[in-house]
Amino acid sequence: MNGFIKFALIAFISGGITHLAAASTSDDSIPRGARILMNVYPSYVKGYKNGELLMSDGSTITYDDGREKSFVQLLDETDPEDMFAFTYDLNSWTPGKMQDAGRNRCVELFDKMYGSSASAVRSKLVPVRWPFGQATNNGGVNKNVKIVLFTTVNGANKQLEKVVAELEKHPELHKYLAQSGTFYWHALHSAKRKSGHSYGITVDIGVKYSDYWRSHAKSENATVAYHNKFPHEIVEIFEKYGFIWGGRWYHYDTMHFEYRPEILMDARGQ
Ligand SMILES: [Zn+2]
Repeated sequence: MNGFIKFALIAFISGGITHLAAASTSDDSIPRGARILMNVYPSYVKGYKNGELLMSDGSTITYDDGREKSFVQLLDETDPEDMFAFTYDLNSWTPGKMQDAGRNRCVELFDKMYGSSASAVRSKLVPVRWPFGQATNNGGVNKNVKIVLFTTVNGANKQLEKVVAELEKHPELHKYLAQSGTFYWHALHSAKRKSGHSYGITVDIGVKYSDYWRSHAKSENATVAYHNKFPHEIVEIFEKYGFIWGGRWYHYDTMHFEYRPEILMDARGQ
């Protein structure tokens, strides 16, 4: 990123209208989503040129494949642009119909950042203190497990540490915080998708209080009744540090928190 673009980007983020106006001619050709990716993943997404994201390893990723996609295709065949196809609505606690912002991931991009095999992802995981224990199969909490594994890529582990520090100040929330897993390598029901758990950017908590859309709908295209038992305070603490909540998806998964700063930056209109 050259100095001028960087300046323009900073002006854009800080909401500096006058600076932005001055810099707009060089910046306008970069789609907003690409600019957000460059901003939140600066070690990997270095630039944008002729419709391609320029990656730090010298490779490129087509930002927008230009195809019209069905809802399921937006989830199965996600290009970087498709990650911004849905609304993550910070102003409502009920997800809009078929709005699954952050539930889809561009596998090409995420493989490059977090690792494209179980061992590659695992090599970047470190222990993060999680003092709230681990959920047991019989509905209890094992307090002897005091860590979770999380990726160092994009500083995700550092952001999780900040979440933990803030959650510790709220004893009234602790009963929801027993974790039941961060990293596990698996494809989702469609082999084309990968879960956030495959990348070490996700933690599941409070399984005892969790709700999942699949228990309330026959197919992904069906109408889903919304359910949630998690206090919103927990969600707001995670979101403050770049984590999205699966409870904001129409196809909700309320125990699921995932490090996706691009979705939050988009939602905040930054
Ligand atoms: Zn999960």
